[in-house]
Amino acid sequence: SDDYKLVSKKWKVKPTCIDLGGGVTIKDGDMAIMAGPCSIESEEQILDVIGHLKENGIRMMRGGVFKPRSSPYAFRGLGMEGLRLWYQHAKAAGIKIVTEVMQVSQIEEMHDYVDVFQVGARNTQNFNLLDELGKIDKAVLIKRGISGTIEELLQSAEYVFSGGNEKLILCERGIRTYERASRNTLDLNAVPILKSKSHLPVVVDPSHGIGIRDFVAQMALSGVMSGADGIIYEVHRDPDKAYSDGQQTLNFAQSALLAEQIRKTFAMR
Ligand code: PEP
Ligand code: MN
Repeated sequence: SDDYKLVSKKWKVKPTCIDLGGGVTIKDGDMAIMAGPCSIESEEQILDVIGHLKENGIRMMRGGVFKPRSSPYAFRGLGMEGLRLWYQHAKAAGIKIVTEVMQVSQIEEMHDYVDVFQVGARNTQNFNLLDELGKIDKAVLIKRGISGTIEELLQSAEYVFSGGNEKLILCERGIRTYERASRNTLDLNAVPILKSKSHLPVVVDPSHGIGIRDFVAQMALSGVMSGADGIIYEVHRDPDKAYSDGQQTLNFAQSALLAEQIRKTFAMR
């Protein structure tokens, strides 16, 4: 089919390795761990999470400074001021920044402060955004759309890749189904299917995938066993006080244990 080509294994057999510099990579046959709060909240919180990541050998920190919220009255992020503060501390600590870009106009101002641009599930088919991300020299992590098919995720990736940016990571973060007992339905079927169809690395987001803190670790480890190249999850010192997604956010002790379990599980795979 003509729906996607360049991101397919038929086009390129060799798995794509994303090199963020400083020895941080996301690639087939390895296990990348990205962790951090749903939202960047304060300088104190940034330092707190960086300390936790360093203690646990995690080199990539996720966090939103521009937040897509269902309600316009919910916390919408610290914006560029938060990103600049975060960058300063992350750089000093050798930690890479993974953060969501919501619109074309933000790409330029964010560019120098970001290691991985995240395209959120609500923007997977924002084709103007994807076109612009295709023109830059920074890694892009594309989440699967809220009700998006695997095929549509690959077509979204094709937008970026065909624009000239080959530094792409695919992310399964759960889809909306009839099931309401969990926030989303984490579709781990997508992992082996994406890995068989595409040369791009695939990561799993168990936090948004199930949306229930106590079950995030199980789904993360299931993601590892499904063949994922990385796990991205939410962590906060005091999840119940988090500005967003506290219900699915791990505390530091849970996160430390999970990071260790992810590595052990991967080693057994
Ligand atoms: C997030 O990573 O906090 C987020 C908003 O994710 P998603 O776009 O998958 O809902
Ligand atoms: Mn979140």
